[in-house]
Amino acid sequence: MAEPLLKFDPAAEAGQRKQVTVAIGDGVGPEITAATLKVLEAAEVPLTFNTVDMGLQCWRQGLSSGVPAESIAAIRDSGVLLKGPMTTPQGSGMKSLNVTLRKSLGLYANVRPVRAYVPYVDSHHPEANLVIIRENEEDLYAGIEHRQTQDVVQCLKLVSRPGCERIIRYAFEFVMTRKRKRLTCMTKDNIMKLTDGLFHEVFNEVAQEYPAVETEHMIVDIGMARVANEPEAFDVIVTPNLYGDIVSDIAAEVTGSVGLAPSANIGETISVFEAIHGSAPDIAGQNIANPSGLLLSSVKMLAHLGLGEQAELIHNAWLRTIEDGMHTRDIYRRSRSRTCVGTDGFADAVIRRLGQQAVTLGKAHYPRRLLQTTPRPPQREQQRELVGVDIFLNSRDTALDLANQIQAAQTAPLELSMITNRGVQVWPAGAPETFCTDHWRCRFTMPQDAESSLNNRDIFHLAMRIDEAGLDVIKTEHLYEFDGKPGFSMGQGQ
Ligand code: NAD
Repeated sequence: MAEPLLKFDPAAEAGQRKQVTVAIGDGVGPEITAATLKVLEAAEVPLTFNTVDMGLQCWRQGLSSGVPAESIAAIRDSGVLLKGPMTTPQGSGMKSLNVTLRKSLGLYANVRPVRAYVPYVDSHHPEANLVIIRENEEDLYAGIEHRQTQDVVQCLKLVSRPGCERIIRYAFEFVMTRKRKRLTCMTKDNIMKLTDGLFHEVFNEVAQEYPAVETEHMIVDIGMARVANEPEAFDVIVTPNLYGDIVSDIAAEVTGSVGLAPSANIGETISVFEAIHGSAPDIAGQNIANPSGLLLSSVKMLAHLGLGEQAELIHNAWLRTIEDGMHTRDIYRRSRSRTCVGTDGFADAVIRRLGQQAVTLGKAHYPRRLLQTTPRPPQREQQRELVGVDIFLNSRDTALDLANQIQAAQTAPLELSMITNRGVQVWPAGAPETFCTDHWRCRFTMPQDAESSLNNRDIFHLAMRIDEAGLDVIKTEHLYEFDGKPGFSMGQGQ
């Protein structure tokens, strides 16, 4: 059983065993973490484990993030965290520990493999076996929200080229190293042409470097509908943060693997591995929780560390355990299970099967090398030119009244060219049915025959003139062209 493990031990080669930080979690966390570590130990993985404080107990001591600085330092030191589920105190104003970890540790990729285990676990999609790779830091999750008027709130959707490059390159490398075949990109770039458009554009660019990978792009609404209806039609999906959040839950739900699914949060230097389920306080302390989600997360951790043989050893034993009908209460059915085991008994059943493989559920495959993502050399900086400004106003006036007041106040070289309300053009032309709030975007551009170029002072001067005219300026957005291409969207109806 232990023989193949000794063939590849990078930590031993480097003269030390790699250290993994462990947070045992709340609720069922201690039970499933103990079961997971028991299996890892029995498989003689070349790792040492260092437990740190995190979660409910830290919150109770008044730490609003739930993570002490020493724990973060330990995670930084080891570069790897195996994390039990944490309870989020309700209505206490406490921050989400997961979001804190994701953002402070730069975990840019969330990887969630989901598959069916029919006939051993019920699912309507027995052939489903897909991986969702979700961008984890940007998009609407940047958490930049404002309220500037009585009627309107906003959330900024930020998407960066390096952010897209990193996640998309990771996804292509994942397909290659995991011997998958097809990568589906999902965006809504028919509507969000700049933000989702950038994600799609980078996907097409990076795809050129991986001709062996079949690629496709789907608009996210039909893409998600297909995942719900036919998950078996997908192999690997890469998508921005919000869509990834939703589609990964849909996929886990329809494949029947919510209680079993692992997840990995990958960063440049630090990665966090955890089950997708929560702390299950309703069954805590009863030795009935299924440790599979965390155990399979630890398998992903081994693969991430380049310990492919150990990952296969444990994953194959786990598949065999499921196939042999050794089931915890959540998946136990008298008709198809053999023995109902507890958390600890399940770990023992996996340990007894180390070295065995499943007969019908297939064989796990993991690479023997680390997944490397080599960034492309930086591209040429594009020529950026200031061509106008959007000035946002808070007002209860009509579009026509506003336009008249603005035109009386505006100064050369900028001229009012459009007013929109919630993105819909209402001046110079508009539809009488358009519902208007108190939040107006007034676009100023240079006349066609303008001879001078525009600078920031022109914009600030214009904003001051508008303010002096008694209008309530709430924000400005500069309009730039990049190599002559507009870096801003048109108004709907323009
Ligand atoms: P949950 O996933 O903890 O529980 C949902 C249901 O699934 C419960 O009936 C539970 O008994 C069952 N269940 C969950 N894990 C199981 C397991 N391993 N074996 C058998 N049954 C299992 O979701 P919830 O009840 O919505 O959340 C409980 C707490 O967990 C909340 O405080 C929530 O914020 C937190 N949470 C944490 C994470 C995380 O740390 N990553 C993720 C989700 C929820």
